[in-house]
Amino acid sequence: MLVLNATYEPINVCTVRRAVVLLLKEKAELIERSSRDLHAEYTTMARPVVIRLVSYVRVPRDTHKRKITRRAVFARDGWACQYCGSRSNLTVDHVIPRSKGGLSSWENIVAACAPCNRRKGDRLPNQIGMTPRKAPRTPHPAIFIHVASPTIPSGWRQYLPEAA
Ligand SMILES: [Zn+2]
Repeated sequence: MLVLNATYEPINVCTVRRAVVLLLKEKAELIERSSRDLHAEYTTMARPVVIRLVSYVRVPRDTHKRKITRRAVFARDGWACQYCGSRSNLTVDHVIPRSKGGLSSWENIVAACAPCNRRKGDRLPNQIGMTPRKAPRTPHPAIFIHVASPTIPSGWRQYLPEAA
């Protein structure tokens, strides 16, 4: 289930069970429902697809603290090598190599195809003239929705930012 903040900003993905609890406790309202019903123990209700929290939840903006995974890096970078644009053989590359003191941070990790990664090797971007197309940054929180849910149900699309 896609969870929207009171401001309609997508913040999370949760299980159906969790969504039902939030709805029953009136902590969330149903925004999009499935045509299929959900049969719970004592009740039948429309299966939620998108819910919205009734009161605003301060979303931690510290996405930089979220775990950096390959999938999250690829999702942020549009599943394309940040050096040549290739979409196959993706790996993650440290822009400043670790051997040169580069950190494993969102600002220093990009998606790179295996050939570019090999070509760049242990060199600094300016030594080999390979600079990422977009300066890597901490991703938008919506990225983690794409990571949590590999297939995005059509009912969610209008709530997710295009770029994510
Ligand atoms: Zn490449």
